[in-house]
Parts: sequence; structure tokens; C-alpha cells
Amino acid sequence: MASSSARVDLDGNLIKPLTICMIGAGGFIGSHLCEKLMSETQHTVLAVDVYNDKIKHLLEPDSLPWAGRIQFHRLNIKNDSRLEGLIKCSDLTINLAAICTPADYNTRPLDTIYSNFIDALPVVKYCSENNKRLIHFSTCEVYGKTIGSFLPQDSPLRQDPAYYILKEDTSPCIFGSIEKQRWSYACAKQLIERLIYAEGAENGLEFTIVRPFNWIGPRMDFIPGIDGPSEGVPRVLACFSNNLLRREPLKLVDGGQSQRTFVYIKDAIEAVHLMIENPARANGHIFNVGNPNNEVTVRQLAEMMTKVYAKVSGEDSIETPTIDVSSKEFYGEGYDDSDKRIPDMTIINKQLGWDPKTSLWDLLESTLTYQHRTYAEAVRQSIAKPLAN
Ligand code: NAD
Ligand code: UDP
Repeated sequence: MASSSARVDLDGNLIKPLTICMIGAGGFIGSHLCEKLMSETQHTVLAVDVYNDKIKHLLEPDSLPWAGRIQFHRLNIKNDSRLEGLIKCSDLTINLAAICTPADYNTRPLDTIYSNFIDALPVVKYCSENNKRLIHFSTCEVYGKTIGSFLPQDSPLRQDPAYYILKEDTSPCIFGSIEKQRWSYACAKQLIERLIYAEGAENGLEFTIVRPFNWIGPRMDFIPGIDGPSEGVPRVLACFSNNLLRREPLKLVDGGQSQRTFVYIKDAIEAVHLMIENPARANGHIFNVGNPNNEVTVRQLAEMMTKVYAKVSGEDSIETPTIDVSSKEFYGEGYDDSDKRIPDMTIINKQLGWDPKTSLWDLLESTLTYQHRTYAEAVRQSIAKPLAN
């Protein structure tokens, strides 16, 4: 519930209610951010997306305590003249819209590049021309591969953080060759970051760039054949959830050796909330937002999710919980991978005093409890149906 008492920012200044144009508000991150802004602030959200399933619970009924503070605008930013008007009448624009599932990067590279660069251009332009603040969602993938991944396997330097920690202001962006179309996404995100940075430097655009490091939690992506296409390949949390719900082995791409750090969506949303309400501390910055303490290999993630799911569902795990698949078989030609992603937290800690809190086990427990409660029955029915026919 939004507090009626006056709220202050990190420097003790009164926070005024803002109108926020949130593009991509109907997605995973957008839905959590809308929830936060409705329940804990007095800000108004103009929620722009082509879908609204994940925020329906915030839009209806009219008796909700925040009714009137959130409006849904169904529009595709590729080709809708209403966008500029929405940005003009807002204090702040947050752009989350993107194609951001790795299965698309190498199979739909044109859509990926258009979505992450070309379609974001008018948003940046309208903000710059109308002197509106912009929070733009980029990705940790702009770092690409670590420097350490190019060292010999037995090099002791691989253990030196200087060769793998990813730091906003010093780490390079290292992508694979052009035929490795996986990097179409990272490259498009990098170019839009550079454009935003240049708009800031040359035209005074007030911007903040967010680089999420594997934010996960309820409502991420879809379960194939239940609330998304049967042949669709979502991100790893939803792929593994789907396998667990169907009692199938979890598929480890190229042996599951890649490493990731996972942060709980609710922790990460706290960081965005701080950026929204502390412009003087957030403007002009690029922020890593992740949890360096939650590092695992994809294989370890699969093993942990298998254990957690057995606990929350009360079902024993299957005899062969994981199988190896090649990346070519799983994603097709042109796939490549980030080897390791550990965020440096110095800048966000110094500017906003933010630190993630939730352990990987705890975040998986609450997320898989949600997945089980939301999908187990529907999956059971979808498996039973073909047998009944
Ligand atoms: P998501 O796919 O759940 O949400 C994106 C939303 O944008 C979707 O609802 C989609 O319908 C909407 N959208 C896309 N194109 C649109 C268009 N042309 N017009 C209107 N709406 C459009 O993804 P997410 O996980 O919420 O990610 C949000 C942002 O964060 C993206 O920019 C993504 O690249 C970035 N990001 C997320 C993560 C993560 O861990 N979740 C990691 C790295 C980067
Ligand atoms: N992955 C996997 N099995 C799956 C789905 C993904 O082994 O069923 C791997 C993928 O190859 C990558 C990691 O899990 O190494 C994370 O994938 P995700 O789709 O979440 O996105 P990324 O972190 O690569 O952006």
C-alpha cells in the first residue's frame, strides 16, 4: 500500500509524484516494476506494450487502491505516432522493450537488431528533443566474453579477478565473429548505449543505463505449450521449470559449463526504484545490477533447481535429472556463449547504496513455488489430453 506520509530521497529531499512512461511494461521486469510503483509510491505509470497479461492484476478492477495511477496503452513502438505524445507528457521514460531471448539472437538476427537498436532510436530522440529523462535497459551481455576466457586453460591468471570481473567504466566489450549471430543482440545494445551516451555528452540528455545480470523470478518468460508457443525456447529459468514440470531431464547446453550470477527480481527492482527517485545520483551513469554472490555453472543451477523443485512440489526427482545437448542442436547455427558474468558492484553501491540480498537457494524456492502453483495443473492436463484422445 502506498504510504501517505511524505517520502524523501537518499539526500533527504521530498520525492514528488512523477508521471512515468514505461515502454515494455507488460513484460517480466515491467510487471514487477509496475507492482512496486503502484504499491509503494504515488507515481503514475503510462504502461506501453503490445501485451498486458502480466499486469492485468494491476489494471482491473477499478476498486484497486491505485486505480487511476496506471493506464495501459497497447501500442507497438515500431510504428505508432502516439509514442512521442506519451513521452512528452511524462517526467521520465523507462525503456524495457526488446527481443531478449537468446534463442532469437541467432535465428532472428534482423528482428533482434531492429528491436534493440532501430526501434529504440525514436525513444532516445524524443527524450532528447523534449528534455525528458531516460532510463534505458541494456544488458550485461554487452561485456560479451571475459578477457580470462582467452587465456590458456591452465593459466593461473584465470583465477585473477582482473581477468573476469565486469566493470562498467573499464571492461571491454568482447564479442565473437559476425557469423556467430548470437552477438547481434549484444552489439545492438552496445550501439544504443553509445548513442544514448553521445546524446548525453552532446545534447545534455539526462540518462541512466541499466545492465541487468540474469534477473529471475515469477512471471519470467513462458512455459512452452501452456502460455507460450510449444516450440518456443525461453530463457534458462523457464526452460528448466518446463522440464521439471513435465518430469523431463533438464538440457545442459554444451555440458552446462558456462557460469552466471542470478539476482532475485525483487532485489533488482529495489535498485531501479532508487534510480527513479534519485536522479541526481543516477543520471549520467551506467549501472551493473546483479548479485556477485550467486554464481553457479548452468549445471549447478540445474542441480539446485532439481532439489528445490522436489522440495516445493513434494515429488521425487526423476532418475536422470539432466542430459547434455550441443548448442547447435539446441539453438541452431551461429550460437555462442558468455563464459562468465560477475558484476562489479562499486558504482551502484557508491551512488545508490544498493546491495542484493537474496541467496540463490531462497530465490529459487520462492520462484519454483510460484511455477508449481501456477503451472503444474495445466501441464498435467496438457500431458493427459493427447493420451485421452
Ligand atoms: P520481456 O520480454 O519479458 O519484456 C519486454 C517487453 O517489451 C515485452 O512485454 C514485449 O511485449 C515488449 N515489447 C517488445 N517490443 C515492443 C514493441 N515494439 N512495442 C511495444 N512493446 C514491445 O523481457 P524482460 O526480461 O522484462 O527485459 C526487459 C529489458 O531488460 C529488455 O530490454 C532486456 O534486454 C533487458 N534485460 C533483461 C534481463 C533479465 O535478466 N531479465 C537481462 C538482460 C537485459
Ligand atoms: N541453457 C541451458 N539449457 C537450457 C536453456 C539455457 O543449458 O535449457 C544455458 C545457455 O546456453 C546459457 C545459460 O543457460 O549458457 C543461460 O541462458 P539464458 O537463456 O538464461 O540467457 P543468457 O544468460 O545466456 O543471456
